[in-house]
Amino acid sequence: MMEGAGKTVSMNKLQLFFLAITISTLILLAGVVYFSYEKKSIQEEKRREIKAIATLKINQISAWQRERTGDVESVLHATYFIRAIGSWFSDTSNSVIKSAISSYITNISSSLQYKEILLTTPDGRTMLTSLERKGPPEPVATSFITQAIKEKKIVISDFYFSPDGKQICFDVIGPLFDEQQRPVAALVYRIDPEVFLFPYIRAWPAVSKTSETILLRKSGDSVLFLNDARHLKGTALKLRIRLTETEVPSVQAVRGYSGIFEGKDYRGVEVLSWVGPVTGTPWYMVAKIDKQELYADLVTHAILISIIIFIMILMVVIVLAWIYSSKQKNIYRKLFLQENRLRESQEQFKTTLYSIGDAVITTDMKGMIRQMNPVAEKLTGWKEKEASGQYLESVFRIVDEYTRQPIENPMNLVLKQGTVVGIANHTLLISKDGMEIPVADSGAPILNERKEITGVVVVFRDQTAERKAREILAESERRYRTFINTSHDMIFIKDDRMQYIVVNDRLVDFFGLDREKILGKTDFDLMNEAGALNCKKSDEIALQKMTLVVNEEEINGRIYETNKFPLLLSDKKTGIGGFIRDVTDVKRLLSDLTDAKNRAEENDRLKTAFLNNLSHEIRTPLNGIVGFSELIVDPAIDEKERARFGKIVKNNSDRLLSIITDIISIATIEAGQETLRATSTDINLLLNDLCQHYRMILNAGQVEISFTSTLSGEEARVLTDGTKLAQVISNLVGNAIKFTEKGSIEVECTRKSQWLHFSVTDTGIGIPEQYQQIIFERFRQVDNDKEIIYRGNGLGLAISKAYVELMGGTIGVRSEPAKGSCFYFSIPYQTVMSEIPVEEHTIKPKNDFQTMEKDSSATEKLLLIAEDEESNYILTEKMLAPYPYRIIHVTNGQAAINQCLENPDIDMALMDLKMPGVNGYEATRRIRELRPDMPIVAVTAYALSGDREKAIAAGCDDYLAKPFERQDLVAMIEKFPAKPR
Ligand code: ADP
Repeated sequence: MMEGAGKTVSMNKLQLFFLAITISTLILLAGVVYFSYEKKSIQEEKRREIKAIATLKINQISAWQRERTGDVESVLHATYFIRAIGSWFSDTSNSVIKSAISSYITNISSSLQYKEILLTTPDGRTMLTSLERKGPPEPVATSFITQAIKEKKIVISDFYFSPDGKQICFDVIGPLFDEQQRPVAALVYRIDPEVFLFPYIRAWPAVSKTSETILLRKSGDSVLFLNDARHLKGTALKLRIRLTETEVPSVQAVRGYSGIFEGKDYRGVEVLSWVGPVTGTPWYMVAKIDKQELYADLVTHAILISIIIFIMILMVVIVLAWIYSSKQKNIYRKLFLQENRLRESQEQFKTTLYSIGDAVITTDMKGMIRQMNPVAEKLTGWKEKEASGQYLESVFRIVDEYTRQPIENPMNLVLKQGTVVGIANHTLLISKDGMEIPVADSGAPILNERKEITGVVVVFRDQTAERKAREILAESERRYRTFINTSHDMIFIKDDRMQYIVVNDRLVDFFGLDREKILGKTDFDLMNEAGALNCKKSDEIALQKMTLVVNEEEINGRIYETNKFPLLLSDKKTGIGGFIRDVTDVKRLLSDLTDAKNRAEENDRLKTAFLNNLSHEIRTPLNGIVGFSELIVDPAIDEKERARFGKIVKNNSDRLLSIITDIISIATIEAGQETLRATSTDINLLLNDLCQHYRMILNAGQVEISFTSTLSGEEARVLTDGTKLAQVISNLVGNAIKFTEKGSIEVECTRKSQWLHFSVTDTGIGIPEQYQQIIFERFRQVDNDKEIIYRGNGLGLAISKAYVELMGGTIGVRSEPAKGSCFYFSIPYQTVMSEIPVEEHTIKPKNDFQTMEKDSSATEKLLLIAEDEESNYILTEKMLAPYPYRIIHVTNGQAAINQCLENPDIDMALMDLKMPGVNGYEATRRIRELRPDMPIVAVTAYALSGDREKAIAAGCDDYLAKPFERQDLVAMIEKFPAKPR
C-alpha cells in the first residue's frame, strides 16, 4: 500500500512538473505571439503615421509654393504698374513714379510677409527694393531672371545664402512684359524660409524626440539638405551626401524612390522614414523617426508582456505546487488511514480467524504454517505454537475414506491452479493422536495487491454430524424415490411457475421423454395445447382453493383422475403437487358394469315378463292337450267327436312344440352354438312350399297372401341354409298374419348382384317407431295398450335376426302404425358351384297321422329301437305300424349292443342317446365296432345344435330330433337301404 502510494506520489510529481513546463511554454508562446503581433501593429501604425505626416507636409509645401507663385502671378498682368515701371526705367528721375512703385512693392512685401521684393531690369540689375535700406542693392541671381524673361514664366530660384552668408533665402521671379511683349523688368519676391517654410517642415504633429522632416534637392552626384537637420545644426545648404550611399533615406528620395524606407540617416542611426518628391518643386522630402524611439513603446510592451508572462508562470507554478502539496497531504492522510485500516483489518482477521466455527490454517508460499485457529488446533491435535513453521502436510494429514490413500493437499492444488478449490468428498483427517475425523475442506490462495499468491488458507470442518445427517437424508430421499416410483399413479411436484421439479417414473413413461427433458418444463412444453390448458385449469383451482382438488382430465383420449394440492412452505404457496391415475379402464369397466347391470335388470324384468308370458303361452295349449286327451279316452263319445278332439290335441301340441323350439333356438343362439348348414336350395321352390302352407292356413279369410320371386329357375338354386331361411320367412309371415286383420301380405324375393333381398309387407297394425329397433331383441314386444292380446313370446324376430346375421346378412323393418309393416332382409347370393343334389324342401301340409295310408314305397326292414321311455316307444311303434317294418325294442344301451351281437339281421338302429346305464353314445360306439356298416340314427330330445355333430362323432349316420313327425321318421328310415337278403 505504501509502495503504491509512493509510486503515485512520484508519478504525480513528475506529472505536475511536466504540466508546469507545458503550461509555462504555452504562456511563453502566447506572449511571443502576442508580442510579435504588437510589434507588427506598432510598426504598421508608425508607418501609417509617418506616411501621413510626410504627405501632409508635402501637401502644405506644395500649397505654400502655389500661393507664392499666385502672389507673383497677380502682378504679371498689372498693366498700369508695368507701364509705370517702364516709364520710370526710361526716366529714373521721376521720383513720383518711383515712390509710387516703391510703395506698391513695399505694400505687397509687408502685406504678404515677403522678406523683400526687388525690382530689377530684365538683365538683373536691381532698380528698387521694398526694404528701405542703405547701401547698394544686393545682386540677385541673374541667371534665374534671365531664365524667367526668356521662358516668359515665373521661375523659383534655389535656396541660397544671402550675400552676408547668414541667411538662407530663395526667390520667386516674375518677368514683366509690356503690351508688346517686350521685357520690361523682373520682380524678385525674396522669401525667408525660416519664416514660413521651415517651420512647416520642422513641425511634427506628435510629441517625438527624434522625428524630423528634411527638404532635399539633388545637387550633382549628391543630395543637398535644404534645411537644418534636427540633430545636426548648420546643415542647410551645406550637408551633402553622395548618391551612392543608398541606405540613407535622403539618397533614396533623390534616386526616385517614394514610400516607406528603413535605413540609416546622416548620423548613421537606424531610422524609419517616408521619402518622396514634393510635387511642383525640385525638392524631395524625407520624414523620419529613429527606430529606437519608434520601438520604445515596443520595448515597454515587451517588458510588460514579459512581466505578465513571468507572473503567470509564477502563478502556474504556485498553483501546481499548491496542488502538489495538498495532494501530498491527502496521500499521507490516506496512507495513514490505510495503515489504520490495515491494522484494524489485521486485528479483525485475527479475531475472525480465532473465533470462526470452521478450522482455518494459513500457510506461506512454501506451505509452512503461519496461523491456525483453535478449531483447527482441536481437530488436528496440534497447538498453533508447535505447528507454526511446520509443513502443512505434516499437520493436516488427509486420506480418502474408502481407499485410505492420501489425498492431495488442498494447498498444492491451490498453488497449482491459483484458484479456490473444494476438496473431494470422503476426506478423513488423521489427527496428531491418530483419530480419524471426516472433514469437508477447501483451499484458497492469499493474494497481495499485485494479485500474486503469497500464501494459502485451508478451511475445513468436522463433518461427522453432517455426514450422518446427509446419509439419513439420502436414505430418506431413496425411500421417498422408491415410494413414488413404485406407485402406479403418476406423481409430480411443480414449482410456482408450474414447471416440473419432481416427476416419478410413471410420469416419465407417460411423457415418453428423458426425465431431464421434463424437469423445468411446463405442460405447454410437453403436451398439446388443449391438454395443457386442461391441466392449467385444475392447477389454478388447486392453488386457489388451497385444498386437494380432484379432477378428471382427458388427455389423448384417455381419462385421468388428477389429485392436485398446493404446496405450502411457511404458509407460502411454492407450487403444487399431485398424483394422477389413469382411470380410463376403470371408467370403462364401471360404465360396462352399469350397462351390464341395467341390462341385467332389464333382462330380469323381461325374464319375469317372459316367464309370465311363457306360462300363459305354455299353459294355454297344455290345457287343451290335457283336457282333450282325457275326453278322447272317454268311451261315451262317438268316433267323429274323438277325431275332432284328437285334432285339437295335435294343434295344441304343435303350438307347444313351436314354443319349445323357439326357446331352444334362442338358447342355442345365445350359447353361440348355432351353425349354418349350407346346402343347395331352390329358393323358388322354398317360397312355393311356404305359399301353399300359408294359403291353406289363411284359407279365404280377410287377408290375401302372395309370394313373388324375380329369380329365374337357374338363379333360384343357391347355396344356403334352407332350413334357417325358411324359418326366418315363416317367422316374418307368421307375425304378418298375426298382426294383420285384413288386407294383404306380400312376400317378395329379388336378386341384386351378390345379394338376395327378401321382404314381407303387411297392412297390419304397424309398429311405433320407438319399438322398431328393440323388437329384434329377445323377449321384446310392442307394449300394446289396446285390449287385444296377441299370442307370442317375443323370440321370433330375435331368432330371425340371429339367423340372418349368421348367414352374413342384415335385417330391418319399415313401419307405420295402423298402416302396416315391411320386414326386409338380405343375405349373400351364393351359386351352387358343383352339382349337388337338391334337397327337397317339401313342407307338406301336416296331416293327421291316423288318416295316413301305408306307404307302398317303403321297404321291409328289421329295426332295432333303443328307447327307455315307454310312451315314446309306443308312439314310434304306432307311427310305424302301417309300414313293413319289424321292430326289436330294447330299453338300454347294453341291451342294444347285445342285440346287435346276437342278431345280424338287424338292418338299422334308432338310438335314443339318453338312456340309463350304457347311454346311446357309448352304445353307438360299441355297435359301430361290431357292425361298421349298420346304419345307426340318433333319435333324441336333445334338440340343441351341436348334438347332431356329437352324435355323428359317436358313430351315428344321422340324427332325428324329438318330437318328430311320422313322415320325417319314415323318410329317415328309408334314407338307408335294407340289407340285401
Ligand atoms: P312374438 O312371438 O311376440 O310375435 P316376435 O319376435 O316375432 O315375437 O315379434 C316381436 C314383436 O314385434 C311382436 O310381439 C309384435 O309386437 C311386433 N311385431 C312383429 N311383427 C309385426 C308385424 N308384422 N306387425 C306388427 N307388429 C309386429
